[in-house]
Amino acid sequence: MVICSRAIVMSFIPSGLLVVRGLWGRPSMLSLPWAVKRRLVCLASHSVEGQVEGEVYDVIISGGGMVGTAMACSLGFDPNLEGKKILLLEAGGKKTFDSVHQDYGTRVSSINLGSATLLSAVGAWDHILNMRCKPFKRMQVWDACSDALITFDKGNLEDEMGYVVENDVIVAALTKQLDSLKGQVQVRYRSRVVKYTWPPPYHVAERSPWVQVELANGQQLQTKLLIGADGPNSMVRRTAGIRTIQWNYDQSAVVAVLHLSEPTENNVAWQRFLPSGPIAMLPLSDSVSSLVWSTSHQHAEDLLSLDEETFTDAVNSAFWSNEYHSDLIDTAGSVFRSALSLLIPYGSSPRQLPPSVAGIGPQSRATFPLGVGHASEYICHRGALIGDAAHRVHPLAGQGVNLGFGDVVCLTQHLSKAAFDGKDLGSTPHLLEYETDRQRHNLPMMAAIDAMKRLYSTKMAPFVLLRTLGLQATNAISPLKDQIVAFASK
Ligand SMILES: Cc1cc2nc3c(=O)[nH]c(=O)nc-3n(C[C@H](O)[C@H](O)[C@H](O)COP(=O)(O)OP(=O)(O)OC[C@H]3O[C@@H](n4cnc5c(N)ncnc54)[C@H](O)[C@@H]3O)c2cc1C
Repeated sequence: MVICSRAIVMSFIPSGLLVVRGLWGRPSMLSLPWAVKRRLVCLASHSVEGQVEGEVYDVIISGGGMVGTAMACSLGFDPNLEGKKILLLEAGGKKTFDSVHQDYGTRVSSINLGSATLLSAVGAWDHILNMRCKPFKRMQVWDACSDALITFDKGNLEDEMGYVVENDVIVAALTKQLDSLKGQVQVRYRSRVVKYTWPPPYHVAERSPWVQVELANGQQLQTKLLIGADGPNSMVRRTAGIRTIQWNYDQSAVVAVLHLSEPTENNVAWQRFLPSGPIAMLPLSDSVSSLVWSTSHQHAEDLLSLDEETFTDAVNSAFWSNEYHSDLIDTAGSVFRSALSLLIPYGSSPRQLPPSVAGIGPQSRATFPLGVGHASEYICHRGALIGDAAHRVHPLAGQGVNLGFGDVVCLTQHLSKAAFDGKDLGSTPHLLEYETDRQRHNLPMMAAIDAMKRLYSTKMAPFVLLRTLGLQATNAISPLKDQIVAFASK
């Protein structure tokens, strides 16, 4: 019998031993008295209430953002899941190509090769290519407090490292594919879920064994498996009692569309670490790029209130100014670079200069508060979390939605196998495998992103020196850079 409680998933086994699943999904054994076990059963089931009502689905996905819509497509196209009743619920309206704005949108994502493979596998990639998408072949990341920089590319500068795509274009392309599934996946837009009632993890005659879902219009639905793709403030996660480690950063991201001074190949993704936060310029076309400028909340507000010309000057200055350089760090960095070039003559790649910005697009600038969050569990009895509902990261590494798409690929594989084996899709064993696989990938990535955010948030000389030497050394060691690129592309 498997029980899901607030913080830990527990399995009773006949010997009376309790199996407690830790972060990595490896069971450890605890022997507990029967009275304690009964208390845990009560804790696990106290949210169960209500009558059995409403249509029963095999899978309901709550939240049709980029990740939830990709999940719906991925399940809909899986041959082993053919005939299953799958429903996607989205609080907002339907996003089609017609509804995508002619001008570039301010919300864009850098998509890695793993995500492009998923989008291709569900048939959405061709729509994206036909619509709007800009490949980039190189990334340059550098420190505003020193000359240290690191570049990433695929070696020959011909192959693409990733793509910059507007979020609305990704959703519209996936929506087109969902439409083509002709009923294999049902979708309901403008359908906000207001309540989830979780079933007891063991059989109770008068209770529904399924998750009950109540919509804002009062309609009741039931599902054997509920997938929470409802974003960082996930109600699925909250009502399942899954604990989340989360905090807000002292930063907001300012986003805008940038018009470059002159058309170029524009195939480099640029990011400069300022002490107040990273500023990134991602290519959208030969002459248009997207800005993601993470900075203090107050500075973000100030940037929004600037007139267009002053804002453009501020962006150019953030990419070009040397106001944070110091002679000490510059000298130490250049001595270290010379020593490295003797040891590894062809290691370091040349510095390129970012394009200058002439103005901003008609779409308004916007800010987003930044934070980090991680669900201690990605699953519970008849439930699984994906995307930002499970993990939220700082945008400095452009990984948020890529991690979410990785969840989609992994959960589809486990559900497909479960369906092939004739298993109950909402049962815990294969969901546990999903959780273990994804936490092994996501946690190291999240830790690395958070560490980078902290390391680059200071102007203190010892830390600046440390990261200057570290960045230059990493830049000189190609196999290490290849490993980083490979990990970030999954
Ligand atoms: C400034 C910025 C830049 C970023 N850049 C990148 C990048 O370059 N690369 C990258 O990989 N990531 C990036 N990210 C992260 C990325 O945007 C997120 O990881 C991604 O949007 C998460 O998608 P999601 O579908 O999981 O969640 P969301 O986009 O939050 O979608 C959740 C959906 O659920 C719906 N919903 C919520 N509650 C309910 C309910 N009760 N009933 C029904 N529907 C509901 C909402 O309407 C919404 O559509 C960036 C983030 C920011 C803030």
